[in-house]
Amino acid sequence: MKTSIDKKPTRTLTAADRCDRCSARALVETALPQGGSLLLGAYHFEQVEVGLIAVGATILVDERRR
Ligand SMILES: [Zn+2]
Repeated sequence: MKTSIDKKPTRTLTAADRCDRCSARALVETALPQGGSLLLGAYHFEQVEVGLIAVGATILVDERRR
């Protein structure tokens, strides 16, 4: 079933995308203000979410609710 969303589709994280803090599957990708991106599993994202937002990181992909 197709959805009609105007915004560009973000990339999809796959099983090959791994959390940068552990080896769990990454569910969230964030862009850091100083450049680069961070892949995090649900657990580690929750650990650093407040800090990331505080430094101005942008959440590119969030697949935790799927
Ligand atoms: Zn992790």
